[in-house]
Amino acid sequence: MNFNEYPIESLMYITSRPEIVYTHGKGSWLYDNEGKRYLDFIQGWAVNSLGHCNEGMIEALNTQARLLINPSPAFYNEPMAQLASLLTQHSCFDKVFFANSGAEANEGAIKLARKWGKKNKGGAFEIITFDHSFHGRTIATMSASGKPGWDTIYAPQVPGFPKADLNDIASVEKLINDKTVAVMLEPIQGEGGVIPATREFMQQLRALTKQHNLLLIVDEVQSGCGRAGTLFAYELSGVEPDIMTLGKGIGGGVPLAALMAKQEICVFEAGDQGGTYNGNPLMTAVGYSVISQLTAPGFLENVRKTGDYLRAKLLELSEERGFNGERGEGLLRALLLGKDIGPQIVEKARLMQPDGLLLNAARPNLLRFMPALNVTTGEIDQMMTMLRSVLDSL
Ligand SMILES: *Cc1c(COP(=O)(O)O)cnc(C)c1O
Repeated sequence: MNFNEYPIESLMYITSRPEIVYTHGKGSWLYDNEGKRYLDFIQGWAVNSLGHCNEGMIEALNTQARLLINPSPAFYNEPMAQLASLLTQHSCFDKVFFANSGAEANEGAIKLARKWGKKNKGGAFEIITFDHSFHGRTIATMSASGKPGWDTIYAPQVPGFPKADLNDIASVEKLINDKTVAVMLEPIQGEGGVIPATREFMQQLRALTKQHNLLLIVDEVQSGCGRAGTLFAYELSGVEPDIMTLGKGIGGGVPLAALMAKQEICVFEAGDQGGTYNGNPLMTAVGYSVISQLTAPGFLENVRKTGDYLRAKLLELSEERGFNGERGEGLLRALLLGKDIGPQIVEKARLMQPDGLLLNAARPNLLRFMPALNVTTGEIDQMMTMLRSVLDSL
């Protein structure tokens, strides 16, 4: 169908989108309304952990849709229990609350920390977050985020989120006072440009938060669920946080998120937390399929291997073109361009013929790569060839 035949004018404007309608996808490939195909290294924004239309997910969705879609959040259902159990088995956390989006999971983490502060720290409520961090688009999570400009768009902000600098422990220490209840960070800042917190910094943070009886909250909405080459990115630093949030990759493309915590932090009382769709079986059944596939023998090892392969290829290209190297973990990586040509590359890559390439410039001076976790080295080679031809055409 021609682009002009789609009734897009009824959609509220929130951002400019290219004049394409995507119609179907399979694995690392996405197809548009004119039948053109695109090699997808965005994957729904690091969401489609298993690529487009994964068979296991389709099966889970279809089977569950025939059994039970929604009994009500006030009742138990089987997939919610199974997924929660799988997540606690494979992490250092004891309890799970399911939500629908990363922002909502983070809202839950903020509430849990504030409630814990009320009970255990004389009403302490401040949560130290970081410059350039991203925690979501609700008013509270925007206030927690350190995205430039976000302090004024919907002012006034929700108070209680002083900002420190990532990988600078003194900047955190300086902000601690008797109102502080927690420190919250992304183990790898995603939207900020794929900036990992160092292992040393994570360990310093854990020691500092223990010393002051503060909670350590990791927002693993982007870095979690296999993206960093381990099931969760906190594992890379050898520390155990108190609270973790998941989103994006946990649903493999469907709206699902989770708030996880250690038993001793779980202070919610009846009525404190909820949500109409929390733990709904249709989404948790898909999440169960996703996490089962990610934790199958050899899967994460393969993510680490393809991550290393992508890293080597990006370094080679960087050397060849005089860029500034690359960074990241697993299959969340950035190529540092050294100049603000990211958006131009993204545009040209998408428009390429006969096949397009989907990339993202999280910041103008870098490209972010977030392919399916089961991307092949052959597809990485294809991507590199396409990227080289885009760079040649600049
Ligand atoms: C995407 C993202 C969020 C927000 O998730 P939504 O599902 O869009 O609400 C929060 N934190 C991080 C680190 C993210 O990358």
